[in-house]
Parts: sequence; structure tokens; C-alpha cells
Amino acid sequence: MSLYAPSYVPRFRCLGPGCPHSCCEGWEVLIDQNTADFYAAVPGELGQRLRAALRRDGEELCFPLQGGRCPFWEPSGLCEIHRRLGEEHTSFICRTHPRFLDDYGPRRELTLGASCPEVVRLVLAEDGELLSQPEALWQEPGEPLGDTPELLTPLLLGRKTALGLLRRPGPMAGRLWGVALLANDLQTLIDQGEEGRSADVCGAWATAPLPEAPAENEMAAREAWETLVAQLSSLEILGEDWRALLAAAREGLPQGSLSLHPPQETQTRRTAEYFLLRHWLHGVWDGDVLSQAELAVLGTAAAALLGNLTPFPEALRLFCREMEHCQENLDALQEAFWGSIGLDTFQAALSLPGLLS
Ligand code: SF4
Repeated sequence: MSLYAPSYVPRFRCLGPGCPHSCCEGWEVLIDQNTADFYAAVPGELGQRLRAALRRDGEELCFPLQGGRCPFWEPSGLCEIHRRLGEEHTSFICRTHPRFLDDYGPRRELTLGASCPEVVRLVLAEDGELLSQPEALWQEPGEPLGDTPELLTPLLLGRKTALGLLRRPGPMAGRLWGVALLANDLQTLIDQGEEGRSADVCGAWATAPLPEAPAENEMAAREAWETLVAQLSSLEILGEDWRALLAAAREGLPQGSLSLHPPQETQTRRTAEYFLLRHWLHGVWDGDVLSQAELAVLGTAAAALLGNLTPFPEALRLFCREMEHCQENLDALQEAFWGSIGLDTFQAALSLPGLLS
């Protein structure tokens, strides 16, 4: 098994009581069956409260929120279960957050989710190269299973090419547009069963000039953003802060009252790299790499747009909190990318003057 992770992953440390947004804020804490079985036998008053708090939500067990947080969150910022029973008896999701582990046959990738403010800081502070890591980095889950997926080699090559496009000199809108067009070319190969030609296509992209940034077109861009923000607003919303941010964007876009100041190049580039490392390879499973590239473009550009209403790192954190931890939202976005929101929408959105440097 080979484990890969962005270079900052080994330096991640939970901020603990110093965290301004504990990770059990705003969503139900899922309790895995092994942990629930352990709680069934915990004696005394804590055991009674653990069992009383457990609820079934569809197929899953969870602790419903109390006052917007996990019922075992303490005002000191610590978790009562962690403090009294030990970290090993917190739920799997609590022990592992904000880590995401993806297995592609013998290749395992470990990434961190930017719903966590400390992860946002790490992502934006340095260029996160993907490195082969010692396996001791995170040992909890067992060995990955299964054969190497057929699309792994083409999509690894595609991701390397996409990351290379992001490092090219030139306007950020042109770089993001290049990533979307590259993914579209790869998608055409996959759809035609010709992914074996991906090395030729990636080679051509690596040597060709960067595509022109979409020409500025303020009216078309604001319409595209109204569509994108309406789409985000139609999804399941976890936090009122996100709802308010989207509402402010919806109000400001048509009136032109939202004045735009592009974020620093390093912020948007590292954000786009983050999304590519987190999501691009997921196309291995369903053969849809274009949607993963569109998610990267949307996440980066949305953070840039909403970064005019709240600091850019917070806009990125909120986007990731709302999208990356909710499979229904990711599925709904993918469906929208298959339908009403296509490459033309992104081309228009990237043409907004002042959006990107
Ligand atoms: S959001 Fe991040 S820093 Fe904050 S408590 Fe969770 S893991 Fe720790």
C-alpha cells in the first residue's frame, strides 16, 4: 500500500479548546455501531446520558444537536466523552475529523477538509505538494482492498497536468478555465472509452499555451453568478452564517452593489489545488472527472466572490463545511453540472471583472 498526502498533513494539530469553530458545531454527530455498542455498556450517570442522547436518523445513529452543538461539548471547548472516556471512545467521525481517506486499490490518499479553520490556515499558508508519506501518519483504518481502478492512471496524469496549469503564469481565470477545458477533454476520452489516449492529451495540454481567460462580460457574468448562488442556496444548509452570506451575494449581484476586490494569487491557486487534491480522483469511481473539475472551479471562484463579503479564508471554510460534509449536496451539485450548470456557466462566471487576479 502506498499512502500519499499533501505536505502539510503531518503538521496538522487540532486547535482543541482554542478552536473558534468546534467540529461538532452545526451538524449531528454520527455514532458508528462499535461506539454505540460501547456506550450501551458504559456504567453510571455518563452511560445513562450517552444512551439517552442517542437517536436514530434513518439508517444512522447520532447525537442530535443541543443549542447548535453536540450535547457532550463543554463550554471549555473540550469534549466530555474524550475527557472522561478517552479519545478512542469518541465516535469514528470525531476521531478522524477533519481527515478524509480515499482508497484507489493499493493507493491511499489522505487529505484534510477545509471546514476546519486550522486546515484552511495550512492550505493557504503554503504550496501543498502531494507527497508519499510514511504509513504511520494515520493508521486507524485497515488495509485498502481491491484492484487498481482502470481510470486511476489516466486521472493521476490528468490531475498532475491540471496542477501544472494552475502554476502557469497568467490570469487566474485563464488557469481555472484551462483546468475545466482539460477535464472536458479527458471526459470526452472516458465517455468514448479512449482513456488510453490520456497521455497524449495531457502531453498536449502541458506544452500548449494557457487558454485565454474568458473575456470580461459583466452582465453575462452576473447572470451566471446569480444561477450559481441560487444553486448553492437551494442545497441543504447547515449554518445560518452560510445562508446569510449567500443572501447578501444574491442581493448585491443584480444591483451591482457588490464591489469586487480580487484575492491574492496564492490564495486562489492554493484553494484550487486543495480542491483538485481533495476531489479530482473521485472521478475514478464514477467516470465523471468533469464534475470534479467543475467543483474545484466553483469552490475557488465562490470563495473569491464571497471573500468580498467575509474574509477569504472564512468564505472557503464555509463553502467546504456546507459542501464537503454533505453527500446530498455533493450529489445535487453533480446533477446540476450534468444539467443546467455547464461549462458555459463557468466561462461566464469567470469573466466577472475584479473576481480574480
Ligand atoms: S474544527 Fe479543526 S481545529 Fe477545530 S476542533 Fe475540529 S479539528 Fe480541531
